[in-house]
Amino acid sequence: MEDKVISKADFSSMVDRLIQEGEYDSIEGVKTKDGKYFFGSLTNSGELCLDYDVTLLPPKKYFLPQRETVITFRQGERPAPEPVAEASSVVLIGVHPYDLKAMELCEAVYSAPPADPNLMIRKSKTVVIGVDCLNPNPQSFSASMGFATTESGYDLMLTDIGDSYVVSVGTDRGADLLARYGRAADATATNLARRDEVREMSLGRYEKSLSMPADEIPAILNETWDSRVFAEKSEVCLSCGSCVMVCPTCVCFDVEDTVALSLDSGERYRKWDSCMLTDFAKVATGENFREDRESRFRHRMHRKGKYLLERYDKPGCVGCGRCGLACLVDIALPADTYNLLKEAS
Ligand code: SF4
Ligand code: SF4
Repeated sequence: MEDKVISKADFSSMVDRLIQEGEYDSIEGVKTKDGKYFFGSLTNSGELCLDYDVTLLPPKKYFLPQRETVITFRQGERPAPEPVAEASSVVLIGVHPYDLKAMELCEAVYSAPPADPNLMIRKSKTVVIGVDCLNPNPQSFSASMGFATTESGYDLMLTDIGDSYVVSVGTDRGADLLARYGRAADATATNLARRDEVREMSLGRYEKSLSMPADEIPAILNETWDSRVFAEKSEVCLSCGSCVMVCPTCVCFDVEDTVALSLDSGERYRKWDSCMLTDFAKVATGENFREDRESRFRHRMHRKGKYLLERYDKPGCVGCGRCGLACLVDIALPADTYNLLKEAS
């Protein structure tokens, strides 16, 4: 696909036009409050922050909401369950490369037969505009995972080169949006050289890294199942689940039914769940397959570094650093554990 360039002023005008013309149900982007960043609805381009380090929650929430109804039903002789798979059209602006890679994993998980219609319809109705992460957060190690940049997962990808953005066009849908709403020109060799330069400079800003190539992680995990590292790290775990709730690659959910007070109808909904919570692996007989903190901690590290990779050929951790930022006792970041396991192996 081609590379374009658009001035920052023209990009702001493009966002304002998208908001005003109402072709899409909502225009969502990265906003800021009290020094933190989050994805939310934009009412004007001035609210958009594209030089952020990381958002509190990943943009996964647009495709896999924290809680969603999947079936409605009537009570009685003919319950008539009705599947619910609805989505509004969205333009999502400012997604970092590691979150795009995380969404590719989520899509791989949810498109495995039988494909999940809820995620699929949301994906099909969302235009994604990415932006390169030039100021990584202090816990990010996405460069070590190979996700400081990405060549896939977006319709348009922006790189801040000063007064302008280089815009990589990823899909026909992105090209169409840019042609109809933006005033972009073909990128010059100078623009592209500047893009390479700012990307290169950003690599020097990562404070966290793996001490081994990322593709060695599964082998290290295979050799260290009984390592004391898991017991020592998990000793202070609060079992709060925060590391999972903020993670862009965590895909597990719980399902519950609820019935209206009138008792004539109800809904089945799913909500995010966390393998770091005490009852996650508890089954009907009362047995809990991961009753202690150590086994839950070990499971999460294997899930992130090995299980998802083996099943879907995509890493279960993209190195975004959110878990490291969220963990009150500073034990959640996979890179820290993998480095200790490497040392011990
Ligand atoms: S495990 Fe942590 S660093 Fe890895 S993707 Fe999840 S939140 Fe980000
Ligand atoms: S590792 Fe940290 S964030 Fe995760 S459950 Fe334990 S204390 Fe909570």
